[in-house]
Amino acid sequence: MATRHGGQRVESPSTRSKRTPHDPPLRDPTLYALTDHFRERLRQPGRYVSLTVVSDAIEYGQLRWNRTEGWRFALVREGIRFIVVVGDTETTSPVIVTAWTEIADWNAAMQSDRWTVDDVHTIRLRAALSDDPERRIPSRIRPRIVGRPFEMGDHRLTTAAGDGHVECSDCRNRFRSKQQLLTTVCHRG
Ligand SMILES: [Zn+2]
Repeated sequence: MATRHGGQRVESPSTRSKRTPHDPPLRDPTLYALTDHFRERLRQPGRYVSLTVVSDAIEYGQLRWNRTEGWRFALVREGIRFIVVVGDTETTSPVIVTAWTEIADWNAAMQSDRWTVDDVHTIRLRAALSDDPERRIPSRIRPRIVGRPFEMGDHRLTTAAGDGHVECSDCRNRFRSKQQLLTTVCHRG
């Protein structure tokens, strides 16, 4: 996979493709460039996205069309579903826009050696916060136990058993919705 800078694209008329946005994207991972947005997410603790699994999803995953977001690949590994959103698939330089994980089968994920209990709780908590970013969701945070911080916004978040909030390990702020944490600057120390 190559890196594309600032949305710049080199495309000569002779190589321009005749594909439309509705044509299923190609299943060759080497054709896809990485957006800056996606490269940032690759490094994000608690997202569990790697280039290997993204390549596997493009090659073998289930293809879905979403009216607002376009094409996405979905691949389940030991109870966890990886979602990979791609764009510019009608052009000769398609890109990987973003990727994330969600729970496909809670029991399978909990029993898997690939995922720790902390991982499975992190994935479910992150998904719950993203589901409805504006809403405060103490009742959905409370059952989650996450001891190793995951990143969202500027913050590194954990939550203890019975807590209806996530807490940042750096700034010590407490949050109950994704919007709250995305609109609060992290002042470390
Ligand atoms: Zn913080």
